[in-house]
Amino acid sequence: MNDILPGESLTWQYVEGCFRSVVKSFGYQEIRFPVLEQTQLFKRSIGEVTDIVEKEMYSFDDRNGDNLSLRPEGTAGCVRAADQHGLLYNQQQRLWYQGPMFRHERPQKGRYRQFHQFGVEAFGMPGPDIDVEVLQLAHQLWLKLGLLPHVQLEINNIGSSEDRKRYAAALTAFLEQHEASLDEDAKRRMHSNPMRVLDSKNPQVQEILADAPALADYVSDDSVEHYQQLQALLRGLGIEFRENPRLVRGLDYYNNCVYEWTTEALGAQGAVCGGGRYDGLVAQLGGRDTVAAGFAIGIERLVLMLESLDLVPEQARRAIDVYLIMVGDNLTAQGLALAAQLRQALPDAGIVSHCGGGKYNSQVKKAFNAGARLAVILERRDSGSEAVQHLRLRRLDSDDEAITVELAEVVDKVREMLAAS
Ligand code: ATP
Ligand code: MG
Repeated sequence: MNDILPGESLTWQYVEGCFRSVVKSFGYQEIRFPVLEQTQLFKRSIGEVTDIVEKEMYSFDDRNGDNLSLRPEGTAGCVRAADQHGLLYNQQQRLWYQGPMFRHERPQKGRYRQFHQFGVEAFGMPGPDIDVEVLQLAHQLWLKLGLLPHVQLEINNIGSSEDRKRYAAALTAFLEQHEASLDEDAKRRMHSNPMRVLDSKNPQVQEILADAPALADYVSDDSVEHYQQLQALLRGLGIEFRENPRLVRGLDYYNNCVYEWTTEALGAQGAVCGGGRYDGLVAQLGGRDTVAAGFAIGIERLVLMLESLDLVPEQARRAIDVYLIMVGDNLTAQGLALAAQLRQALPDAGIVSHCGGGKYNSQVKKAFNAGARLAVILERRDSGSEAVQHLRLRRLDSDDEAITVELAEVVDKVREMLAAS
């Protein structure tokens, strides 16, 4: 797991805020489901012969002898939960989730063993309209985050499960002819899950695959029509895409249109979002036949992109706006009350009231270190025989002199000064 420290978590908060606002504006509702599920759920959905299930899951027997796994992705658990609670019975649903996922991979930049995803899943809508809606949602998120110029959408039509069965048979026959030149992985997979061989990173295997039968030749007319309508809708919306006939996803439940948003800003870890239709999954997991479509986004990769491209807005990078300094004895109660008053009037501002006493200079230093823009200075000075209370405001992001204000006007002045910087 990549630890997330306070400065970085501000970028996370920003990304999360943008995602929440986009899903809300599309009318999607949050669903939560556990990080632990029966291992069988993932085997049945993602597929026994996939990298995720074969190599990447954290699985163990619990005290009852049940084999459980930490979720490597969200769709399986989302379908399990939605079906179990009757959300899929003859209904349309637009859902979203977020949370940690776990895969035993080699950790490197943008690839972690515990990472986080945002996902959306839409149930009960068969047409390309919903595929395009979820793509439009992702597109809107990139737009909001300023990432649109840095991502590309790649799409492919992988056909129905029947199409793929026919294709898999043809591919197996082809691979059998070249068995001697295949590596161990490919040999093993050519019978159990031949389409996974297409994913091979081995150049020698890829060379053989150049002459393999093409999936596109096995895709049924219905699938082709769906795919063409989807493309026409994307063009109509001005959402740019590129067809990539080699794009197959690492999970078996997909059908028809699948896609990935990729970036060149992250080096090798180029995928930021992957998804597609999974019309058979609900029934396969024991529910009523319910068509579905959705995607998942890797949050760490978005955070890395935003930081490396310097796209996090200034206000999202600041945790603290106002630092309340108290100089003199017995000002604590009054200072805390003033801080409460400021928080109530300025609910979006970060207001820290100084703790631990000390001289003005040491407190002001803390205010600078905290990154505050404004210091509110409450002080008591001796003036002849009486102690007189003063309230001053000092900008910390400019050389302006501190100004003296009355208690009655402090809230308005603070609001004004924060708005001005
Ligand atoms: P990759 O090709 O990089 O391994 P993937 O195809 O395995 O990605 P998906 O299963 O499609 O990934 O998951 C959706 C998104 O989750 C990915 O596009 C990526 O942004 C993110 N993701 C996947 N695995 C990891 C990981 N180990 N660490 C961080 N992010 C990840
Ligand atoms: Mg992967």
